[in-house]
This record gives sequence, C-alpha cells and structure tokens, in this order.
Amino acid sequence: MPVLWLADVDKDDIPLVGGKGANLGELLRAEIPVPDGFVVDARTFREFIQKTGIGEKIYSLLRDLDVEDTDKLDAVSKQIRELIEKTKMPEEIEKEIREAYRKLCEEEGKEVYVAVRSSATAEDLPDASFAGQQETYLNVVGEDEVVEKVKKCWGSLFTPRAIYYRVQKGFKHEDVSIAVVVQKMVNSEKSGVMFTSHPVTGEKKCIIEAIFGLGEAIVSGLVTPDTYVYDRVKRKLEEVKIGEKEFMLTKKDGKTVKVELPPEKAKERVLSDEEIERLVTLGELIEEHYGKPQDVEWAIEGGKIYIVQSRPVTTIRKEKKVEEEVSEETEGKVLLKGLGASPGIASGKVKVIFSEKEISKVEEGDILVTTMTTPDMVPAMKRAAAIVTDEGGMTCHAAIVSRELGVPAVVGTKKATKVLKDGMIVTVDGEKGIIYEGRIEKKEEPKPVVASAPIITATEVKVNISIPDVAERVAKETNADGVGLFRIEHMVLGLEKHPMKFIKDGEIDRYVDLLYQEMKKVVKAFYPRPVWIRTIDAPTDEFRAMEGGENEPIEANPMLGFRGIRRDLAEEEHFRAEMRAIKKLVDEGYTNVGVMLPLITSPEEVRKAKEIAISEGLPLDKIEFGVMVETPAAALILEDIIKEGIDFVSLGTNDLTQYTLAVDRNNENVAYLYDETHPAVLKLIERTIKVCKEHGVKSSICGQAGSYPHVVEKLVEFGIDSVSANPDAVQKIREVVARAEKKIILEKLRKL
Ligand code: PEP
Ligand code: MG
Repeated sequence: MPVLWLADVDKDDIPLVGGKGANLGELLRAEIPVPDGFVVDARTFREFIQKTGIGEKIYSLLRDLDVEDTDKLDAVSKQIRELIEKTKMPEEIEKEIREAYRKLCEEEGKEVYVAVRSSATAEDLPDASFAGQQETYLNVVGEDEVVEKVKKCWGSLFTPRAIYYRVQKGFKHEDVSIAVVVQKMVNSEKSGVMFTSHPVTGEKKCIIEAIFGLGEAIVSGLVTPDTYVYDRVKRKLEEVKIGEKEFMLTKKDGKTVKVELPPEKAKERVLSDEEIERLVTLGELIEEHYGKPQDVEWAIEGGKIYIVQSRPVTTIRKEKKVEEEVSEETEGKVLLKGLGASPGIASGKVKVIFSEKEISKVEEGDILVTTMTTPDMVPAMKRAAAIVTDEGGMTCHAAIVSRELGVPAVVGTKKATKVLKDGMIVTVDGEKGIIYEGRIEKKEEPKPVVASAPIITATEVKVNISIPDVAERVAKETNADGVGLFRIEHMVLGLEKHPMKFIKDGEIDRYVDLLYQEMKKVVKAFYPRPVWIRTIDAPTDEFRAMEGGENEPIEANPMLGFRGIRRDLAEEEHFRAEMRAIKKLVDEGYTNVGVMLPLITSPEEVRKAKEIAISEGLPLDKIEFGVMVETPAAALILEDIIKEGIDFVSLGTNDLTQYTLAVDRNNENVAYLYDETHPAVLKLIERTIKVCKEHGVKSSICGQAGSYPHVVEKLVEFGIDSVSANPDAVQKIREVVARAEKKIILEKLRKL
C-alpha cells in the first residue's frame, strides 16, 4: 500500500513515512490544526526502483564515487535524478497516488493546490538537519503534476549534498529510502517559524520569526524576518525586531511568484499581539505533546493558524554545558550587528565569499563572511572559526548548520559582505550578535540558572549536579529539594591523573582528599538537603586521555564494559577511596550525604559494596544507601536487591533505555529508536516504583527522562517519591509535578 493518510500515522511510522510525515500525523492526532494530506511511503520508492530495474544503475554510479570531487559529484547526482524522473512509475503505484489526490480534492469539490515534500527517513535524526533534505514543490495542482513531483522528490535522495552527507556519516546509500508528503497548501498571508523555547539556552521563551506570504522565503534566508521574543513565564512579549522584508512569495494562478513590497510595507510589523499569543499557545500545546521544545513552521490564511511542521529543537545546550559554560563579555569597537544565531566567541581573519566556488579561500580558523551560506559551503563552515551572513534569521541555513557544528554565527547583518574586507581581523560574538574590530579578550562570569518560584509539591523535585563549582549557585537558584544525582566522574576526569595512577603512585590519601574537597562543595551547598553521591561511573574510553589512562582496556562497546559498580568492585581500592572521602564528610557532620551505586545487576554487588562501606567506617544507620536501577536485570529482580537492605532506588533511564531497547545511547545511527517512553521501558519503570512502594524503599529518577514533562507526569501517577532534573528544568518539572498531583487529588475527590 504506497499511500498512508497523515491522520493514520504516528511516530512509530518514522521508518515508513519519515520524520516529517510522522510528525504531522502526531500533530493531527493531538488536534493541532494541520492541513490534511497523505504520504507516499518509503516502501514505494524501493518498489519503484526494483520494479523498474533502475536501482542497480543508481547504486553502481555511486560506488567508489569521490565525493570531494565536486564536479564528479554534481554529474553523478544529475544523472541519477534524471533517470528517476524519466522512468515511468509502475501502474499500481501511480493509480493509488492519483486516487489519494482525488480524495483530497473531494472535500473542496475542486482540484486543490498541494505541497509535495520529501520526508527522508533519516533527515530528522538529531544531527541531520543539513542532511539530504528537502525538495519542496509548492502549488502543485492536478494528478499528473502530483505524480511528476513525487518522482522529483524521490530524486532529492540523490542531491550532491545528500550523497556527500551519507558518505561522511558512513551511511550506505542502499539503506536509505525516502517518503513523500503530499499536503493541502495554505495560501498564507503570513508565515514563519517558531521555537517554542529558546533554541540555544532552552529558556521558556518563544522565538517567532514572521514574514508576509509563503514561508519558503524565510527558510532559504532570502528575506530578513520580523523576530518576536515572548517570555512564557512572565506571559509577555519581550522583544520585537522588525526585519526589512523586501519582497514576499505568493501564489498566483498556481505559480509561486515574487512580489516586491513597497518600503512602508517592507518595514511593517507582520504579527499582531493577539496573533502572537495564539501562536504561543499552540506552541506550548505542541511542546507539551512531545515533551520537548519544538521548532515549528506555521502559516496564517484567512485569520486561521495552521501548523505546517514541527520537529524537536536539537541545539539546546546540554546540562553539562549549562553548568560549565560561562557567558563571555567583550568590549571593543562594534563593526556590525545582526542576530546571534549560534553562541560562542571567536576571532580570526575575514574571508568574504559569494559562492561555493570560492570555498577553498576559507582556511582553518578564518571568519567566513557571505551573503547566505548554502549546503555546498558546509566543508568551509566546518573549517571556519565563525560565520557571518548578510541575510537570514534564526532558522536559516547558516543558523541551523552553525549551531550543529558548534561554530559561533551572526546572521542577518544586512551588509557584512560590504563592511568586512578580506584579511581584516575581527571578533564574532555569536550569542549577542555582534562583530567587533580586532581580536578581543574575553571576560568570564557565571551564567545564571533559571530562577525558582515558591511551589510546594509532595513529590520532591531535586536536581542533578556534575560540576561542584556550580553547586552553590544551583542550590540557590533552583531551590531544589536536594541532589538526586551527583555524578562524580566529571570532576574525577578533570583531575591531573587517572584515579588508579594516584593509587599506584602511593598517593591514595591525596586522592581521597581531592574527592572529599570537591564533594564537600556540593554537600555543603545543599545542606541539610540530601545529596546522593553516585560512585564513579565512566566508560573506559573516557578515562583514556588522562595521564595514566593509557592502560585502560580497549573495549568494543564501552557502554557494556568495565564501568559502574562492577569496575569499583574489581578495583576495590578505588571504591574504598570513595567511601573514605564520604566518611570524612559524615565525620564533619554532613549527614545529608547518601551513597548511590551505579549499574547494579545483582544483589551480590550490593552486599559486597555495603560490606566495604561498613568496613571503611561509614555509619549506614545515619546516612542513606541506595542503588540505581538502570539495567533491566535490576528492575526485574529488585525484590532480591532490596533484601540486601537499601534506603532508596533511583531510575537511571538513560542506561535503562539503552539496555532495554538494545540502542547504544551514543550511536546516532540508531538514535531514532531511543525512546524512554517505549512501553517496555515504562513497564520496567512502573514495576520499579511499585516494588519500592511495597517494600518501603524511596523511589526516584535521575535519568534525562526526569526532565521531560510527559514522562514526569506518568511517574507521579505511578507514585514516585522524588524526581531529579537538570538545573534548567527544575522549575518546569516542579510545575508539572504540582499539576499532576492536583489531577490525582481531583480524581480522588470526584470518586468520593
Ligand atoms: C542514567 O543512566 O540514566 C544516569 C542518570 O546515569 P548516566 O547518564 O550518568 O549513565
Ligand atoms: Mg547511567
């Protein structure tokens, strides 16, 4: 069956309908206004090349192709695309596509305009937004044209950049297929994109970009859009930046035409306050539905808002970075301003280029300056220390790619290619959107974490900590009920040498003291709130770079290797060192510490660890002792583990998910399968909480899922005692917990 209706698909259908198709289906199901349509699924493309016999030719052309040879790459791409477009579709496939289109027209009683877009099954993987992407045909009308454009979309699987990307990533061409979404078109008067939360910091700020007419002009960076920043916590529009929208794209007699806008219209504000409020509300609904900040494309026609696409924002700084990074302040002569599209500060020599033909000019560490980047410039973008463009907004090519590459970028400066000259030395501040003259020193200051509000919840809301130096600030600003996970390996990996080298060099006391000093920062900052210190858990590959790390075993899969409690019991001296450091804290009166054992799989491990802790003098009657449940083994035999005598259990869903689903959490090829809400994972979670309740053991979560509202809601329903979130998520999670608790009480009241 080549055709699937959007209303019938969801995220489980990604391999068939691609990320885009699946997302639209999910939105429709959540009653978000999405234009109707269908997907020509990924099986159909395979069937097409098999039945027509052109597959062999295509893949033989790609074999041994040197993708760095741009001319050859272009020629092969062209040849394959022409082949696909010229080859007649097998009749049964064509028939079904035609029928589906006719059905779409039935409701309106006339031939409707549709958008035909490719939805590659790999393109929405976390780091693939500059992957093969996206052929989009707008204003397609009539059965013949739909069929023709579907074939063109199939061809987009073989654009030069798609081929290049797959070779770079080590994907096999034969393994990749493509789906095509055919969707009714909104002839938008206004359109744009919206980040439901800040795409860099993750703050609850909606960033909306808007232009007049069809949305294509914004994504391609042809028009500088209006930018609106709406603070979702304060419920107020915080910033309005009007862009110069020199023209708009619109539909005329079925064709997309460019209409120049008179100067006063170009400078007119696109969205009213009321439209912004409606968009924010929809954005919040979508974010809540997915449980993650989203990057949404929207359109307005006849006053009605449609959501055209939504995908997760992948560029928000991870917890580690939020803790570690500092905001950098610069002073100097300002040459230019634009939109800060990718954070970071870099200095270097300007290289102005106007097309991909000039990319060889850009050397390692240069500042790439151009009108607007194109996918062909990606190799140069990788070499650049920073990127500056004349055009574009927060979602243009330069912005998206530079964020993913981690290269600072300023876009939409309007005149960078005129003001900046080859060879000039400049400093680019990608957070503030400023380009300074010369090389500028950075001043560093701590970055604030999201402030707290006085919400009291029965379920405790704690915080995860990895960097002791931020503990004091995080304790104050989040007002969390304690630390549900203190990952000590980050500080250990930051020490001057491998822990076992300290031991070998006869410096165990020094090592214990270093551990104690660092641990104390956290325990003291949160006193008397509990701090669960997790004993070391770093895979072998992470230790290798340390002095003394050269003896680390080389493992085929470190995630399944010598890590967690198994390593500490094998290297008992190290475990004893940790216990001694914790004992020093307890001796000083810090009885708010708890010991948490990672990667437990058997009761024997708990028994052995407890014996060692006791033999090192840890008073287990005064402090808490617990385990992480992050293997299916631990979840399934939890009763036996509890018999060893523990006070608490914390769900490590990052590992629990990877071990349950056989999905390496560090492997992007299978990242689309990584799902903490998979029914099997949820069953193990529910079981763990239930068994804890039955045995009077505290239950908690410290995996990333504890920062996701949609998961936390469920955990509260299951009866979890505490949730430990990332510092930036604590406030939101506290709100979610409060709401979930209220719901439970209301339901109970209703039943009375
Ligand atoms: C987990 O596995 O969920 C966890 C919190 O531990 P880590 O991410 O450090 O493996
Ligand atoms: Mg873990």
